[in-house]
Amino acid sequence: MRAFDYVRATDTREAVRLLADDPAASCLAGGTTQLDLMKDGILEPPRLIDITRLPLHGIEHRGESVHVGALVTMEELAADATVAERLPMVREALLLGASVQLRNMATIGGNLLQRTRCRYFRDPTVGECNKRSPGSGCAAVQGAARMHAVLGASERCIALHASDLAVALVALDAVVHIQGPAESRSVPLTEFYLTADVSPERENVLEHAELITGVEIPLPPSAARSGYLKVRDRASYEFALASAAVLLVVEGGTIRQARVGLGGVGTKPWRAYEAEHVLTGAPATTATFLQAAEATMRDAWTVPGTEFKVPLARRTLVRELQNVSRVMA
Ligand code: FAD
Ligand code: SF4
Repeated sequence: MRAFDYVRATDTREAVRLLADDPAASCLAGGTTQLDLMKDGILEPPRLIDITRLPLHGIEHRGESVHVGALVTMEELAADATVAERLPMVREALLLGASVQLRNMATIGGNLLQRTRCRYFRDPTVGECNKRSPGSGCAAVQGAARMHAVLGASERCIALHASDLAVALVALDAVVHIQGPAESRSVPLTEFYLTADVSPERENVLEHAELITGVEIPLPPSAARSGYLKVRDRASYEFALASAAVLLVVEGGTIRQARVGLGGVGTKPWRAYEAEHVLTGAPATTATFLQAAEATMRDAWTVPGTEFKVPLARRTLVRELQNVSRVMA
């Protein structure tokens, strides 16, 4: 690892100013992504601004939403009583991610900004990687692609966004609060991420020196039921091959409201609007669920090694729609 300066900020505006003063500086939260990439020589910031002492640790219930500070850990959010009661798919997505040790370090802001697990991105000896080195090509399209994406993918980049939490949060219309050097702004999570077919090297709309200060999660109606299903190669401590975050309101056998997010398949946490369109107003039956899954995966772009993800994602979505609608019956 290259030597770097370490600075601890205690005030949000000070942290933003320190970042703004140095275009190559990075911030450090739990460090579970940032330090790995520095040890591997993928990131080499000359200066790290430690933000863990900033006052962004609270979980507040404000009317019909939950405001989560960016430095709340994954374990803390999963343990929140309102999240457990009203947002089960958020809790499940958190608890199915990483390990207890990691979840006690990893923050919500860092989780949303975690970098891809693409093995070629993380290997500095690989020259072809448009994400690390724009214009150099993509080693993964003809390489080992099992853990890569099929939605928002192209020959430019097929890197998966591996966050489980973000899949649940895009489905719930969560909003990211951001503090920059000049102003603060709020961005819906559905507009926060960019797909790799458009800009492999730029994954989201955050500018340098902007900090995520928190995430606002609207609470769904009390009649809603939700869940998160994660399919992976082993039962714990593994990233998703396919996952589905599903929220339904069903009345008299008809789906009144549907929210669907998909993970393990997208270059960004994927909001499945096509599925929601098929589901809303339709009977809560397996035939409807199959149609919704078909519509969602219609535009998948595969390479040798990722074709299996298309039927797997369809089956994962159908299974979770069945699980959630069964709870409501
Ligand atoms: P850091 O590593 O400190 O930061 C990550 C990035 O975000 C850095 O670029 C940093 O500069 C930036 N950053 C952090 N906070 C802010 C902020 N507030 N504002 C602006 N920029 C910020 N995740 C899953 O979802 N599911 C899994 O199954 C899973 N398994 C994992 C297994 C392993 C072995 C590991 C190492 C990680 C796994 N993860 C998984 C990823 C893990 O959840 C993330 O590494 C973690 O959430 C990142 O949070 P952090 O606080 O450690 O971020
Ligand atoms: Fe790089 Fe993306 Fe290709 Fe991976 S998939 S090698 S991150 S360009």
